Amino acid sequence: MEIIKRHIQKRINNPCEAMSPVGIILHYVGNPGTSAAANANYFHNVNQRVSVNYVVDDREIIEIIPPDMKSYGTSDGYYNGRYIQIEMCHPDASGRITDATLERVVWLCRSLSARFGCADVLRHYDVTGKRCPLWYVSHEDEWQVLKARILSKAADDPADAKKDAPPSDWAREAVSWAVEHGILRGDENGALRLREAVTREEAVTMMWRMRNMG
Ligand SMILES: [Zn+2]
Repeated sequence: MEIIKRHIQKRINNPCEAMSPVGIILHYVGNPGTSAAANANYFHNVNQRVSVNYVVDDREIIEIIPPDMKSYGTSDGYYNGRYIQIEMCHPDASGRITDATLERVVWLCRSLSARFGCADVLRHYDVTGKRCPLWYVSHEDEWQVLKARILSKAADDPADAKKDAPPSDWAREAVSWAVEHGILRGDENGALRLREAVTREEAVTMMWRMRNMG
């Protein structure tokens, strides 16, 4: 996924103050049907101490303040100076977040957690009691699921398991031939694991497939 950077200059809602993030705080924009771009615009122009690091909708992730810089997402200075803050867009007043937006939010949170080695994710609600993000304040069970998706170990994630080493230049032609003819097949996650050792049964199975080639 791609992160679009549209950074806010130093101004009332961006103190340009460095921080070492220890976690992430999630918000909802509270303005149904508005896009990430529209909310990014709002933060570029607002004349109050309100800001976040990212705004996400079902099409875009926009970074308006770098993740290692303070933002003003809550009224609590302790959290603002230690947590990366993310606004989630939503289609209606219930505050429910679409699957496409959630997918981006989960991906973003996981990559930020990995990058900064932080493993805490909070709702704005957990910090100040504000009913934000509304859907996850009124649906505690879904919040627990979302939190688990964000904090689960990378090894359990099939998306990471697919991060498979590509063939070396000298082996490319052979690998392509073997895959094309069904001799070399991926494991249950589709990974070819090209640099890993082969057992005797795997070797003989590949020979068998080659013998039976049409
Ligand atoms: Zn909030």
